Parts: sequence; structure tokens; C-alpha cells
Amino acid sequence: MNLKPLQSQTIIEPFRIRSVEPIRFTTMDERKSLLEKAGYNPFLLKANDVLIDLLTDSGTGALSSDQWSGMMASDESYAGSSSFYRFEAAVQDITGFKHVIPTHQGRAAENILFTTIAKEGDVIPNNTHFDTTRAHVEHNKAEARDMVIPEGKQPQLIHPFKGNMDIDALEETVEKVGHERIPVIMLTITNNSGGGQPVSMENIRSVSQIARKHNIPFIIDACRFAENSWFIKTREEEYEDKSPIEIAREIFSYADGCTMSAKKDGMSNIGGFLALNDDVLAQECRSLVILTEGFPTYGGMAGYDMEAVAKGLYEALDEGYLRYRIRSSAYLGEKLTSAGISIVQPTGGHAVYIDAKKMLPHIPPLEYPAWSLTNAVYLLGGVRAVEIGSVMFGLQPDGTEKDASMELVRLAFPRRVYTQSHVDYLAEVIIAAFEQRKNLKGYKIVKAPKVLRHFSARLTPVEP
Ligand SMILES: *Cc1c(COP(=O)(O)O)cnc(C)c1O
Repeated sequence: MNLKPLQSQTIIEPFRIRSVEPIRFTTMDERKSLLEKAGYNPFLLKANDVLIDLLTDSGTGALSSDQWSGMMASDESYAGSSSFYRFEAAVQDITGFKHVIPTHQGRAAENILFTTIAKEGDVIPNNTHFDTTRAHVEHNKAEARDMVIPEGKQPQLIHPFKGNMDIDALEETVEKVGHERIPVIMLTITNNSGGGQPVSMENIRSVSQIARKHNIPFIIDACRFAENSWFIKTREEEYEDKSPIEIAREIFSYADGCTMSAKKDGMSNIGGFLALNDDVLAQECRSLVILTEGFPTYGGMAGYDMEAVAKGLYEALDEGYLRYRIRSSAYLGEKLTSAGISIVQPTGGHAVYIDAKKMLPHIPPLEYPAWSLTNAVYLLGGVRAVEIGSVMFGLQPDGTEKDASMELVRLAFPRRVYTQSHVDYLAEVIIAAFEQRKNLKGYKIVKAPKVLRHFSARLTPVEP
């Protein structure tokens, strides 16, 4: 037999499905009334009334059979459980950091870190602070300063590493503010609030050099470290032949610690950690963990949660998984782009962001175009997405409203949950909304709380 090896163009899901969760189909009439009852706010829908849920990729992923088997064999001892030691060994093996402090999720690690190191007058540089990170910095009266490269702020511009830190801006900040008022330099990989865009190894190295030169600790917000490693492998030439785990280890080798939400690249439904090299700082943080999270060998997690994370961190670094994961977002991005829909380019790791301002120029920003599109995709196809626009960011501290710089609809992918046919269907739904875009209407807010209004506001369509 003389057969040529298959050069398959199809990147298949790198798993087979052994346990299934039915999703519920509804009619458009049912969805109309469900959405009305929910005050036209997708956050207030019941998950059971959603067919495909892309609200977030946080904690929504599927566990593997290997994770489940570890969870069945967990050790639920209060102190010194063997599940903790497996969790600690996995984190140390991948990050190389000496001290591993478990927390119930990412923001708890941020709370402990910033309560310990930040004070009034301090400045924390970051490419872009995630909203919980910013909140913890500000809660401790320090200033959260974002300094992503200018390319990272232009949605249509294509650049391989739009999450990079602006190195000149960082150096200038260190010069002006002085190292004594910068308790830590942070870098978020991938840059979630900037569209899930990656940071290059070269940039990580440069940030590290500046931090070391000035004796400032360098801490990575590592939530999507595995996706970032994959982007480095595929976009930074010298890393082509390296495995994602080798790349991840190199990333962490340049830093002094990290905060992590295991609900992202920990492939778990809950969990997180703070990892540090410094003995004194780790000791201070551990004292705080006891106060807010629990004993330092479980820190707010059950033994079985720690087992899931211990395995999940390695599964997130699996090449077949990462190829499928990043391809899923790119595949949806390509389908939408070729139908004429503007999205944030290039597609990031965990989500696709649609530019609703471009799609719906007839809806003024303060009638919330991205909110309107979000509701349209639910009505048309039972798809739940999230508005990142003027409902989320428009309310000013003095109670007035100002439009957000961008009106985006984010479609975030839960890990290992949806298949290619789900994505094909999604594209059909969004394209159907695009084709009928002239019929989409704006919204007005009927009732809203004073802070974080998008979670619970009630709205109504604007009738001309
Ligand atoms: C999700 C996230 C966090 C916070 O983690 P939680 O587990 O949701 O508390 C922090 N930083 C980034 C970049 C994130 O994506």
C-alpha cells in the first residue's frame, strides 16, 4: 500500500463526549416574553432559557474525566491535605514560584496581594487592569495606571501582540513616580479588558528588566497564561518549536509571582491562587489568607477543587486543546468578518468582540447599540452574549451619563463546551441580526442601581 498521509484542514474537537447536558430550545415568541420579563437584561434571564451561553468563559468550562477521577479521590482534611500538596506541586512545576497560596478565586488573590502591598499614593502600572484588579488597587487607595501599547486601543488594527505593555510609558512612570511608590508592576496575560490580546515574550522580558533594574516586584495576572503561551508559540518566531509548557515556564521565570483565577486557564469551576518567591511577603499574605479565605492549605477551596485545578493547569497547556480553543474563536471571527461584520481584530483567545457602533450607526451611544445587538441575538437564536459599552461603563460617579469609547458585544467561549456546529449556528444567528440591523431599536434604562448597573438594570425598547 502506498498511501499519502492525510493533510487534514479540519481542526476537530480534541475530545469525545461522555456525559451530556441537554440544552433547551425555545421559540422566538417564548424568548420575546422571557426577555421582556427579564427587563430586557440578559443577566436576568434564567440560564435554562438560554440555548448557547456565551456570557463568560469564567468557571463555565467542562471538566475532564481525569479531573473527575482526581476529585473523587480528594482529601478533605482541614490542614495539610494531600490534595493541597498535589495542587501546590502542579503550580510550582509550571510557575516555578516558591510559595503557593490557595484562594477561592482570582479576586481573592488580588485582595490579599494589594491589601498587603498597596497604600495611598502608590501607583500600580499594568497593561490593562482587569475590573476586579482595578477595584482592589483603588480600594487600597492606590492608583491603577493602564499603559497598553497604542495599537492595543485600535479595534480594527491587526498586530500580533496588542496586549503588550508600552515600555517607554512604563520607564517614564518609574522615573517620575519613583520605585518607592510603585510596590509592584503587573502584566495581564492575555489582556482580558483589551480584547483577550496576547503579550509577547520579548515584552514580558522587557517589563521584567525594568522591574529588576529598579528593584520592584513583577507580578503576572496569569488568568489566561496557557492561551498566551499558545499565541507566543504561533506568533513569535523563536518559540515555534517550543511546547506551551516550556513557554509558560519561561514566562513565569521572568516574574516574582502571579495572581491566578483557576476559573479560566485552571480549567476549573472555582479556585485560584497567589504565588510568590519572596519569603517575607508570602508570610504576610498567608496571615491574611487565614483571616479572609481559610487555612493556608485550602484557602477557600474544597479538596476536590484543588484536585481539579492541579490537573486542569496541565490540560490547559495541551497543544491539541489550545489549537482547538484558539481556532474556535478565529473561526467565528472569520465567518463574521466575511459577512461584512466588524469585530475587534485579530480575534483574541477566549472571545470574539463585535463592533456594534459600526453595525448600528442609527442607534445613538446612549440608546445602547451593543445592548440592542445583545438582545437581538437572544431573540433570534437564544444566544446570550454580553454588552461591553455604555450600559456597562457609561454611568459617571456624579450620576451623569457619558458614552463609552467602544460599543462592543462580547461572545466568550466556555472551555471544551461547544462544538463546531454550535459555532456555525452562532454565526448564522449573528449574521441574521446583521442583515436586519436597520430594524434594531435602541433601549432606555427604566430602573438601575447606582453601581455596576449592567448586572441588574431594567430596560425597555425606545419607540420612535
Ligand atoms: C477573571 C479575571 C480576574 C478575577 O478572577 P475571578 O476568579 O473572577 O475572581 C482577574 N484578572 C483577570 C485578567 C481575569 O480575567
